[in-house]
Amino acid sequence: MSNPYHANHLLAQLRAASLGREDATFAQHAGGNLTYGDLFTAAEKIAAALVNHGLEPGDRVAVQVEKSLNAIALYLGTVLAGGVFLPLNTAYTPREIEYFTGNAEPKIFICDPASQASLAGATQNVAQILTLDAAGEGSLIDAANREQPGFAAVPRGAEDLAAILYTSGTTGRSKGAMLSHRALASNSATLIDVWRFTSDDVLIHALPIYHTHGLFVATNVTLFAGSSIIFMAKFNADSVIEAMPRATAMMGVPTFYTRLLAHPGFTREVTENMRLFISGSAPLLAETHNQFSDVTGHAILERYGMTETNMNTSNPYDGDRRAGTVGFPLPDVDLRITNPDTGEALRDGDIGIIEVKGPNLFSGYWRMPEKTAEEFRDDGFFITGDMGVIDERGYVSIVGRAKDLIISGGFNVYPKEIESLIDDLPGINETAVIGVPHPDFGEAVVAAVVLNVPNAQTSDSIKQSIAPNLAKFKQPKAIFIVDELPRNTMGKVQKNVLRDRYKSLFENQPA
Ligand code: AMP
Repeated sequence: MSNPYHANHLLAQLRAASLGREDATFAQHAGGNLTYGDLFTAAEKIAAALVNHGLEPGDRVAVQVEKSLNAIALYLGTVLAGGVFLPLNTAYTPREIEYFTGNAEPKIFICDPASQASLAGATQNVAQILTLDAAGEGSLIDAANREQPGFAAVPRGAEDLAAILYTSGTTGRSKGAMLSHRALASNSATLIDVWRFTSDDVLIHALPIYHTHGLFVATNVTLFAGSSIIFMAKFNADSVIEAMPRATAMMGVPTFYTRLLAHPGFTREVTENMRLFISGSAPLLAETHNQFSDVTGHAILERYGMTETNMNTSNPYDGDRRAGTVGFPLPDVDLRITNPDTGEALRDGDIGIIEVKGPNLFSGYWRMPEKTAEEFRDDGFFITGDMGVIDERGYVSIVGRAKDLIISGGFNVYPKEIESLIDDLPGINETAVIGVPHPDFGEAVVAAVVLNVPNAQTSDSIKQSIAPNLAKFKQPKAIFIVDELPRNTMGKVQKNVLRDRYKSLFENQPA
Protein backbone atom coordinates (compact mmCIF):
# COMPACT_ATOMS: atom_id res chain seq x y z
CA MET A 1 0.00 0.00 0.00
CA SER A 2 1.44 3.39 -0.91
CA ASN A 3 2.20 5.62 2.03
CA PRO A 4 0.33 8.94 1.80
CA TYR A 5 2.98 10.63 3.95
CA HIS A 6 5.96 9.33 1.93
CA ALA A 7 7.40 12.82 1.40
CA ASN A 8 7.62 13.48 5.13
CA HIS A 9 10.57 11.54 6.56
CA LEU A 10 9.31 10.99 10.12
CA LEU A 11 5.55 10.78 9.53
CA ALA A 12 5.97 8.25 6.72
CA GLN A 13 7.74 5.97 9.18
CA LEU A 14 5.32 6.63 12.05
CA ARG A 15 2.45 5.72 9.71
CA ALA A 16 3.90 2.67 7.95
CA ALA A 17 2.94 -0.02 10.48
CA SER A 18 -0.70 1.08 10.76
CA LEU A 19 -1.40 1.63 7.04
CA GLY A 20 -4.36 -0.46 5.98
CA ARG A 21 -5.14 -1.27 9.62
CA GLU A 22 -7.41 1.73 10.05
CA ASP A 23 -9.66 -0.03 12.56
CA ALA A 24 -6.77 -1.23 14.73
CA THR A 25 -6.72 0.40 18.16
CA PHE A 26 -4.15 3.09 18.81
CA ALA A 27 -5.41 3.96 22.28
CA GLN A 28 -7.70 2.51 24.90
CA HIS A 29 -9.04 5.38 26.99
CA ALA A 30 -11.82 6.09 29.47
CA GLY A 31 -14.31 6.88 26.69
CA GLY A 32 -13.57 3.82 24.50
CA ASN A 33 -11.02 3.10 21.78
CA LEU A 34 -9.32 5.49 19.37
CA THR A 35 -8.44 3.74 16.11
CA TYR A 36 -5.38 4.45 13.99
CA GLY A 37 -7.71 5.74 11.26
CA ASP A 38 -9.23 8.24 13.70
CA LEU A 39 -5.85 9.31 15.07
CA PHE A 40 -4.40 10.17 11.67
CA THR A 41 -7.65 11.79 10.47
CA ALA A 42 -7.45 14.05 13.54
CA ALA A 43 -3.77 14.78 12.80
CA GLU A 44 -4.56 15.66 9.16
CA LYS A 45 -7.34 18.06 10.15
CA ILE A 46 -5.11 19.70 12.75
CA ALA A 47 -2.34 20.03 10.14
CA ALA A 48 -4.79 21.78 7.80
CA ALA A 49 -5.94 24.09 10.60
CA LEU A 50 -2.35 25.01 11.51
CA VAL A 51 -1.55 25.85 7.89
CA ASN A 52 -4.71 27.98 7.73
CA HIS A 53 -3.41 29.82 10.77
CA GLY A 54 -0.25 30.74 8.92
CA LEU A 55 2.10 27.83 9.69
CA GLU A 56 4.92 27.52 7.17
CA PRO A 57 7.57 24.79 7.00
CA GLY A 58 10.09 25.21 9.81
CA ASP A 59 7.80 27.36 11.98
CA ARG A 60 7.62 26.42 15.64
CA VAL A 61 4.35 25.41 17.28
CA ALA A 62 4.77 25.88 21.04
CA VAL A 63 2.39 23.84 23.14
CA GLN A 64 1.63 23.98 26.86
CA VAL A 65 -1.37 21.70 27.32
CA GLU A 66 -2.56 18.87 29.53
CA LYS A 67 -2.03 15.35 28.23
CA SER A 68 -4.83 14.24 25.91
CA LEU A 69 -5.13 12.11 22.79
CA ASN A 70 -5.73 15.27 20.77
CA ALA A 71 -2.41 16.57 22.12
CA ILE A 72 -0.77 13.50 20.52
CA ALA A 73 -2.68 14.25 17.29
CA LEU A 74 -1.38 17.82 17.55
CA TYR A 75 2.22 16.56 17.66
CA LEU A 76 1.60 14.44 14.56
CA GLY A 77 -0.33 17.22 12.79
CA THR A 78 2.44 19.74 13.42
CA VAL A 79 5.09 17.50 11.90
CA LEU A 80 2.76 16.56 9.02
CA ALA A 81 2.36 20.28 8.27
CA GLY A 82 6.16 20.72 8.18
CA GLY A 83 6.21 22.49 11.54
CA VAL A 84 8.51 22.05 14.52
CA PHE A 85 6.73 20.73 17.62
CA LEU A 86 7.78 22.48 20.81
CA PRO A 87 6.14 21.00 23.92
CA LEU A 88 6.45 22.81 27.26
CA ASN A 89 6.11 21.39 30.75
CA THR A 90 2.62 22.16 32.11
CA ALA A 91 4.23 23.24 35.40
CA TYR A 92 6.01 26.23 33.83
CA THR A 93 4.80 29.62 35.06
CA PRO A 94 4.12 32.58 32.71
CA ARG A 95 7.50 34.04 33.63
CA GLU A 96 9.22 30.86 32.44
CA ILE A 97 7.06 30.65 29.29
CA GLU A 98 8.08 34.19 28.37
CA TYR A 99 11.68 33.03 27.99
CA PHE A 100 10.65 30.16 25.68
CA THR A 101 8.44 32.30 23.45
CA GLY A 102 11.18 34.94 23.26
CA ASN A 103 13.86 32.39 22.39
CA ALA A 104 11.92 30.08 20.07
CA GLU A 105 9.68 32.67 18.41
CA PRO A 106 6.82 30.28 17.69
CA LYS A 107 4.32 31.16 14.98
CA ILE A 108 1.51 29.48 16.92
CA PHE A 109 1.09 28.96 20.67
CA ILE A 110 -1.42 26.44 21.99
CA CYS A 111 -2.43 26.50 25.64
CA ASP A 112 -5.18 25.43 27.99
CA PRO A 113 -8.11 27.87 27.77
CA ALA A 114 -7.85 28.31 31.56
CA SER A 115 -4.32 29.70 31.31
CA GLN A 116 -4.79 31.84 28.21
CA ALA A 117 -5.38 35.07 30.16
CA SER A 118 -2.39 34.60 32.50
CA LEU A 119 -0.16 33.84 29.48
CA ALA A 120 -1.22 37.00 27.60
CA GLY A 121 2.02 38.82 28.44
CA ALA A 122 4.26 35.82 27.76
CA THR A 123 2.67 35.23 24.34
CA GLN A 124 2.16 38.82 23.17
CA ASN A 125 4.58 38.43 20.26
CA VAL A 126 3.07 35.17 19.01
CA ALA A 127 0.92 35.60 15.89
CA GLN A 128 -1.71 32.99 16.71
CA ILE A 129 -2.96 31.64 20.03
CA LEU A 130 -5.21 28.58 20.03
CA THR A 131 -6.52 26.46 22.90
CA LEU A 132 -6.73 22.79 23.81
CA ASP A 133 -8.02 21.62 27.18
CA ALA A 134 -7.55 18.44 29.20
CA ALA A 135 -10.64 16.89 27.57
CA GLY A 136 -9.07 17.49 24.14
CA GLU A 137 -11.39 20.40 23.24
CA GLY A 138 -10.70 24.03 22.40
CA SER A 139 -10.36 26.51 19.56
CA LEU A 140 -7.69 24.32 17.89
CA ILE A 141 -10.15 21.44 17.61
CA ASP A 142 -12.97 23.78 16.54
CA ALA A 143 -10.72 24.95 13.71
CA ALA A 144 -9.70 21.37 12.86
CA ASN A 145 -13.35 20.31 12.72
CA ARG A 146 -13.91 22.80 9.91
CA GLU A 147 -11.24 21.01 7.80
CA GLN A 148 -11.40 17.90 5.65
CA PRO A 149 -9.16 14.84 6.15
CA GLY A 150 -6.63 13.98 3.44
CA PHE A 151 -4.11 16.77 4.12
CA ALA A 152 -1.14 16.38 1.77
CA ALA A 153 1.92 15.84 3.97
CA VAL A 154 4.43 18.70 3.69
CA PRO A 155 7.71 17.29 2.31
CA ARG A 156 10.44 17.16 4.95
CA GLY A 157 13.82 15.49 4.70
CA ALA A 158 15.85 13.56 7.26
CA GLU A 159 17.76 16.61 8.48
CA ASP A 160 14.77 18.95 8.78
CA LEU A 161 13.66 19.65 12.33
CA ALA A 162 10.66 17.83 13.74
CA ALA A 163 10.83 19.13 17.31
CA ILE A 164 12.62 21.36 19.77
CA LEU A 165 12.70 20.23 23.39
CA TYR A 166 14.09 22.57 25.99
CA THR A 167 16.51 21.28 28.57
CA SER A 168 17.53 23.45 31.51
CA GLY A 169 20.97 25.01 31.23
CA THR A 170 23.58 25.02 33.96
CA THR A 171 23.84 28.76 33.51
CA GLY A 172 20.16 28.89 34.41
CA ARG A 173 19.07 29.41 30.81
CA SER A 174 17.25 26.61 29.08
CA LYS A 175 18.62 25.34 25.80
CA GLY A 176 16.42 24.16 22.96
CA ALA A 177 17.62 20.78 21.68
CA MET A 178 16.89 20.66 17.95
CA LEU A 179 15.65 17.19 16.99
CA SER A 180 15.60 16.21 13.35
CA HIS A 181 13.29 13.78 11.57
CA ARG A 182 16.35 11.51 11.28
CA ALA A 183 17.16 11.54 15.00
CA LEU A 184 13.63 10.64 16.07
CA ALA A 185 12.92 8.09 13.36
CA SER A 186 16.22 6.24 13.68
CA ASN A 187 15.98 5.91 17.46
CA SER A 188 12.43 4.51 17.37
CA ALA A 189 13.40 2.01 14.68
CA THR A 190 16.30 0.84 16.85
CA LEU A 191 14.20 0.62 20.01
CA ILE A 192 11.39 -1.49 18.56
CA ASP A 193 14.02 -3.98 17.49
CA VAL A 194 15.93 -4.01 20.76
CA TRP A 195 12.80 -4.16 22.91
CA ARG A 196 10.88 -6.43 20.47
CA PHE A 197 7.78 -4.27 20.06
CA THR A 198 5.16 -5.63 17.63
CA SER A 199 1.59 -4.74 16.70
CA ASP A 200 0.43 -7.13 19.45
CA ASP A 201 1.86 -4.96 22.21
CA VAL A 202 -0.27 -2.89 24.56
CA LEU A 203 1.75 -0.24 26.41
CA ILE A 204 0.67 1.47 29.63
CA HIS A 205 1.21 5.13 28.79
CA ALA A 206 1.17 7.17 32.01
CA LEU A 207 4.16 9.46 31.29
CA PRO A 208 3.83 13.15 30.45
CA ILE A 209 4.08 13.97 26.74
CA TYR A 210 6.04 17.23 27.01
CA HIS A 211 9.18 15.19 27.76
CA THR A 212 11.25 12.93 25.53
CA HIS A 213 10.38 9.78 27.51
CA GLY A 214 6.58 9.95 27.06
CA LEU A 215 6.60 11.65 23.69
CA PHE A 216 9.40 10.13 21.68
CA VAL A 217 10.18 6.88 23.45
CA ALA A 218 6.68 5.75 24.43
CA THR A 219 4.57 7.33 21.66
CA ASN A 220 6.93 6.98 18.71
CA VAL A 221 7.80 3.39 19.55
CA THR A 222 4.07 2.55 19.68
CA LEU A 223 3.39 4.19 16.32
CA PHE A 224 6.45 2.60 14.73
CA ALA A 225 5.34 -0.84 15.86
CA GLY A 226 1.67 -0.21 15.11
CA SER A 227 0.88 -1.34 18.65
CA SER A 228 -1.47 0.32 21.09
CA ILE A 229 -1.45 2.23 24.34
CA ILE A 230 -3.64 2.30 27.40
CA PHE A 231 -3.90 6.05 27.75
CA MET A 232 -3.62 7.62 31.20
CA ALA A 233 -3.48 11.36 31.74
CA LYS A 234 -1.11 10.78 34.65
CA PHE A 235 0.33 8.02 36.79
CA ASN A 236 -2.00 6.59 39.39
CA ALA A 237 -1.09 3.24 40.98
CA ASP A 238 -4.72 2.10 41.25
CA SER A 239 -5.41 2.74 37.55
CA VAL A 240 -2.16 1.12 36.46
CA ILE A 241 -2.86 -2.00 38.51
CA GLU A 242 -6.40 -2.16 37.10
CA ALA A 243 -5.09 -1.88 33.52
CA MET A 244 -2.07 -4.16 33.79
CA PRO A 245 -3.85 -7.47 33.05
CA ARG A 246 -4.77 -5.97 29.62
CA ALA A 247 -1.24 -4.70 28.93
CA THR A 248 2.05 -6.23 27.77
CA ALA A 249 4.54 -3.44 28.53
CA MET A 250 5.11 -0.33 30.62
CA MET A 251 7.61 2.49 30.39
CA GLY A 252 8.13 4.43 33.59
CA VAL A 253 10.35 6.61 35.71
CA PRO A 254 11.68 4.96 38.90
CA THR A 255 8.92 6.60 40.96
CA PHE A 256 6.32 4.52 39.10
CA TYR A 257 8.02 1.37 40.31
CA THR A 258 8.44 2.45 43.94
CA ARG A 259 4.79 3.52 44.05
CA LEU A 260 3.59 0.22 42.60
CA LEU A 261 5.69 -1.69 45.11
CA ALA A 262 4.19 0.32 47.96
CA HIS A 263 0.66 -0.59 46.84
CA PRO A 264 -0.91 -3.59 48.60
CA GLY A 265 -2.80 -4.55 45.42
CA PHE A 266 0.39 -4.96 43.37
CA THR A 267 1.05 -8.70 43.09
CA ARG A 268 2.67 -11.24 40.80
CA GLU A 269 -0.79 -12.13 39.37
CA VAL A 270 -1.37 -8.53 38.29
CA THR A 271 1.77 -8.68 36.10
CA GLU A 272 1.11 -12.07 34.52
CA ASN A 273 0.23 -10.73 31.06
CA MET A 274 3.21 -8.33 31.01
CA ARG A 275 6.34 -9.08 28.99
CA LEU A 276 8.40 -5.94 29.65
CA PHE A 277 8.93 -3.22 32.27
CA ILE A 278 11.26 -0.40 31.21
CA SER A 279 12.70 2.30 33.46
CA GLY A 280 14.63 5.47 32.73
CA SER A 281 15.02 9.25 33.08
CA ALA A 282 16.60 8.88 36.52
CA PRO A 283 18.57 6.20 38.35
CA LEU A 284 16.60 3.13 39.42
CA LEU A 285 17.91 1.98 42.78
CA ALA A 286 19.28 -1.58 42.70
CA GLU A 287 17.10 -2.13 45.76
CA THR A 288 13.96 -1.27 43.77
CA HIS A 289 15.05 -3.50 40.89
CA ASN A 290 15.57 -6.44 43.27
CA GLN A 291 12.38 -5.87 45.24
CA PHE A 292 10.41 -5.71 41.97
CA SER A 293 11.82 -8.98 40.77
CA ASP A 294 11.07 -10.61 44.15
CA VAL A 295 7.43 -9.53 43.98
CA THR A 296 6.73 -10.05 40.26
CA GLY A 297 9.45 -12.28 38.83
CA HIS A 298 10.19 -9.53 36.24
CA ALA A 299 13.61 -7.91 35.89
CA ILE A 300 13.03 -4.22 35.10
CA LEU A 301 14.95 -3.23 31.97
CA GLU A 302 16.80 0.01 32.69
CA ARG A 303 17.93 2.26 29.86
CA TYR A 304 19.66 5.64 29.59
CA GLY A 305 18.89 8.58 27.41
CA MET A 306 18.49 12.31 27.41
CA THR A 307 16.61 15.05 25.59
CA GLU A 308 19.55 15.77 23.28
CA THR A 309 20.22 12.18 22.29
CA ASN A 310 17.05 10.14 22.68
CA MET A 311 18.09 6.71 23.96
CA ASN A 312 21.75 5.75 24.16
CA THR A 313 21.98 2.49 26.10
CA SER A 314 19.74 -0.32 27.22
CA ASN A 315 19.98 -3.43 29.28
CA PRO A 316 19.50 -6.49 27.07
CA TYR A 317 16.12 -7.98 26.21
CA ASP A 318 17.62 -11.46 26.45
CA GLY A 319 20.30 -11.91 29.02
CA ASP A 320 21.24 -10.34 32.27
CA ARG A 321 19.53 -7.05 33.16
CA ARG A 322 21.99 -5.81 35.73
CA ALA A 323 20.58 -3.73 38.58
CA GLY A 324 22.33 -0.39 38.96
CA THR A 325 23.51 -0.35 35.33
CA VAL A 326 22.00 1.12 32.18
CA GLY A 327 23.19 -1.73 29.99
CA PHE A 328 24.99 -1.60 26.64
CA PRO A 329 25.20 1.10 23.96
CA LEU A 330 22.38 0.64 21.42
CA PRO A 331 23.50 -1.06 18.18
CA ASP A 332 23.87 2.22 16.27
CA VAL A 333 25.32 4.26 19.16
CA ASP A 334 29.04 4.66 19.86
CA LEU A 335 29.78 5.36 23.51
CA ARG A 336 33.06 6.19 25.20
CA ILE A 337 34.20 7.37 28.61
CA THR A 338 36.68 10.22 28.63
CA ASN A 339 38.75 12.26 31.01
CA PRO A 340 36.63 15.37 31.68
CA ASP A 341 39.65 17.67 31.61
CA THR A 342 41.61 16.34 28.64
CA GLY A 343 38.93 14.57 26.59
CA GLU A 344 41.18 11.52 26.36
CA ALA A 345 39.43 8.14 26.12
CA LEU A 346 39.67 6.12 29.33
CA ARG A 347 39.90 2.36 29.85
CA ASP A 348 37.00 0.22 31.01
CA GLY A 349 36.70 0.48 34.77
CA ASP A 350 37.74 4.15 34.91
CA ILE A 351 35.14 6.81 35.74
CA GLY A 352 34.81 9.71 33.34
CA ILE A 353 32.39 11.68 31.20
CA ILE A 354 30.05 9.72 28.94
CA GLU A 355 30.30 10.76 25.29
CA VAL A 356 28.01 9.40 22.56
CA LYS A 357 27.72 9.48 18.79
CA GLY A 358 25.06 8.09 16.45
CA PRO A 359 22.08 8.91 14.25
CA ASN A 360 20.06 9.56 17.42
CA LEU A 361 21.92 12.80 18.24
CA PHE A 362 20.30 16.22 18.17
CA SER A 363 21.35 18.85 15.63
CA GLY A 364 22.56 21.41 18.19
CA TYR A 365 21.03 23.96 20.54
CA TRP A 366 18.56 26.37 18.98
CA ARG A 367 20.26 29.72 18.33
CA MET A 368 23.21 28.82 20.59
CA PRO A 369 26.06 27.88 18.25
CA GLU A 370 28.74 28.47 20.91
CA LYS A 371 27.00 26.22 23.44
CA THR A 372 26.60 23.57 20.73
CA ALA A 373 30.28 23.78 19.80
CA GLU A 374 31.31 23.47 23.47
CA GLU A 375 29.44 20.21 23.89
CA PHE A 376 30.62 18.38 20.77
CA ARG A 377 34.08 16.94 20.13
CA ASP A 378 35.70 17.47 16.73
CA ASP A 379 34.94 13.85 15.79
CA GLY A 380 31.20 14.29 16.35
CA PHE A 381 30.86 12.84 19.85
CA PHE A 382 28.44 14.65 22.16
CA ILE A 383 29.66 15.28 25.70
CA THR A 384 26.65 14.23 27.79
CA GLY A 385 27.76 15.72 31.10
CA ASP A 386 26.98 12.44 32.84
CA MET A 387 29.79 10.67 34.66
CA GLY A 388 29.94 6.95 34.02
CA VAL A 389 31.98 3.79 33.93
CA ILE A 390 32.01 0.63 31.78
CA ASP A 391 32.49 -2.67 33.58
CA GLU A 392 34.39 -5.76 32.41
CA ARG A 393 31.27 -7.14 30.73
CA GLY A 394 30.56 -3.91 28.85
CA TYR A 395 27.68 -2.67 31.01
CA VAL A 396 27.55 1.10 31.45
CA SER A 397 26.78 2.61 34.87
CA ILE A 398 26.05 6.24 35.59
CA VAL A 399 27.84 7.38 38.70
CA GLY A 400 26.87 11.01 38.94
CA ARG A 401 26.25 14.17 37.07
CA ALA A 402 29.08 16.41 36.20
CA LYS A 403 26.98 19.49 36.25
CA ASP A 404 25.20 19.09 39.57
CA LEU A 405 21.93 18.47 37.87
CA ILE A 406 19.16 17.49 40.28
CA ILE A 407 16.51 15.02 39.11
CA SER A 408 13.32 15.29 41.14
CA GLY A 409 10.42 13.02 40.20
CA GLY A 410 12.09 12.36 36.84
CA PHE A 411 12.43 16.06 35.96
CA ASN A 412 15.68 17.92 35.64
CA VAL A 413 16.32 20.80 38.00
CA TYR A 414 19.40 22.94 37.49
CA PRO A 415 20.53 24.51 40.77
CA LYS A 416 21.71 27.72 39.14
CA GLU A 417 18.21 28.81 38.15
CA ILE A 418 16.92 28.55 41.72
CA GLU A 419 20.08 30.07 43.19
CA SER A 420 19.71 33.12 40.95
CA LEU A 421 16.07 33.64 41.93
CA ILE A 422 16.88 33.47 45.65
CA ASP A 423 19.98 35.64 45.29
CA ASP A 424 17.80 38.37 43.76
CA LEU A 425 15.65 38.67 46.90
CA PRO A 426 16.43 41.50 49.36
CA GLY A 427 18.85 40.69 52.17
CA ILE A 428 20.42 37.62 50.50
CA ASN A 429 24.15 37.25 50.16
CA GLU A 430 24.46 33.92 48.37
CA THR A 431 22.77 30.59 47.84
CA ALA A 432 23.71 27.01 47.05
CA VAL A 433 21.09 24.59 45.80
CA ILE A 434 21.63 20.84 45.93
CA GLY A 435 19.70 17.60 45.54
CA VAL A 436 19.40 15.16 48.43
CA PRO A 437 17.96 11.63 48.43
CA HIS A 438 14.19 11.49 48.72
CA PRO A 439 12.27 8.21 48.95
CA ASP A 440 9.50 9.30 46.58
CA PHE A 441 11.05 11.81 44.19
CA GLY A 442 14.52 10.28 43.92
CA GLU A 443 16.01 13.63 44.83
CA ALA A 444 14.56 16.67 46.56
CA VAL A 445 15.72 20.25 46.04
CA VAL A 446 17.33 21.83 49.13
CA ALA A 447 18.78 25.34 49.44
CA ALA A 448 21.40 26.73 51.82
CA VAL A 449 21.18 30.53 52.02
CA VAL A 450 23.53 33.12 53.53
CA LEU A 451 21.96 36.46 54.50
CA ASN A 452 23.74 39.80 54.34
CA VAL A 453 21.18 41.59 56.47
CA PRO A 454 20.47 39.69 59.70
CA ASN A 455 16.90 38.35 59.86
CA ALA A 456 16.04 39.92 56.49
CA GLN A 457 14.47 36.65 55.34
CA THR A 458 13.25 33.39 56.79
CA SER A 459 12.99 30.02 55.13
CA ASP A 460 9.22 30.62 54.73
CA SER A 461 9.52 34.14 53.32
CA ILE A 462 11.99 32.87 50.69
CA LYS A 463 9.72 29.99 49.77
CA GLN A 464 6.75 32.32 49.33
CA SER A 465 8.69 34.84 47.26
CA ILE A 466 10.00 32.36 44.72
CA ALA A 467 6.94 30.11 44.43
CA PRO A 468 5.05 32.21 41.82
CA ASN A 469 8.04 32.11 39.46
CA LEU A 470 9.08 28.50 39.73
CA ALA A 471 7.45 25.25 38.66
CA LYS A 472 6.45 23.18 41.68
CA PHE A 473 9.00 20.43 40.98
CA LYS A 474 11.81 22.99 41.17
CA GLN A 475 10.76 24.53 44.47
CA PRO A 476 13.04 23.70 47.42
CA LYS A 477 11.55 21.20 49.84
CA ALA A 478 13.78 22.68 52.56
CA ILE A 479 15.67 25.97 52.91
CA PHE A 480 18.36 26.49 55.55
CA ILE A 481 19.69 29.88 56.62
CA VAL A 482 23.41 29.30 57.26
CA ASP A 483 26.32 31.51 58.38
CA GLU A 484 28.52 30.61 55.42
CA LEU A 485 28.82 28.15 52.53
CA PRO A 486 31.58 25.53 52.69
CA ARG A 487 34.35 26.38 50.21
CA ASN A 488 37.53 24.74 49.00
CA THR A 489 40.89 26.47 48.78
CA MET A 490 40.11 27.66 45.26
CA GLY A 491 37.03 29.42 46.64
CA LYS A 492 34.57 27.03 44.98
CA VAL A 493 31.46 26.11 46.96
CA GLN A 494 31.72 22.47 48.01
CA LYS A 495 28.30 21.13 47.19
CA ASN A 496 29.40 17.64 48.16
CA VAL A 497 29.81 18.86 51.76
CA LEU A 498 26.29 20.29 51.70
CA ARG A 499 24.87 17.11 50.17
CA ASP A 500 26.51 15.13 52.91
CA ARG A 501 25.22 17.46 55.61
CA TYR A 502 21.58 17.19 54.46
CA LYS A 503 21.60 13.67 53.04
CA SER A 504 19.32 12.16 55.73
CA LEU A 505 16.78 14.96 55.72
CA PHE A 506 14.02 12.95 54.06
CA GLU A 507 15.21 9.51 55.14
CA ASN A 508 12.22 8.67 57.30
CA GLN A 509 9.53 10.05 55.02
CA PRO A 510 7.18 7.36 53.77
CA ALA A 511 7.66 6.61 50.05
P1 AMP B 1 16.38 14.46 30.25
O1 AMP B 1 17.06 15.31 29.25
O2 AMP B 1 15.32 15.19 31.03
O3 AMP B 1 15.84 13.22 29.66
O4 AMP B 1 17.45 14.06 31.35
C1 AMP B 1 18.59 13.36 30.94
C2 AMP B 1 19.42 12.99 32.12
O5 AMP B 1 18.71 12.07 32.96
C3 AMP B 1 20.66 12.24 31.71
O6 AMP B 1 21.68 13.11 31.28
C4 AMP B 1 21.00 11.47 32.97
O7 AMP B 1 21.68 12.31 33.88
C5 AMP B 1 19.63 11.17 33.55
N1 AMP B 1 19.21 9.79 33.26
C6 AMP B 1 18.44 9.33 32.27
N2 AMP B 1 18.27 7.99 32.35
C7 AMP B 1 18.96 7.59 33.44
C8 AMP B 1 19.19 6.34 34.09
N3 AMP B 1 18.63 5.23 33.64
N4 AMP B 1 19.98 6.34 35.18
C9 AMP B 1 20.53 7.47 35.67
N5 AMP B 1 20.35 8.68 35.12
C10 AMP B 1 19.57 8.75 34.02
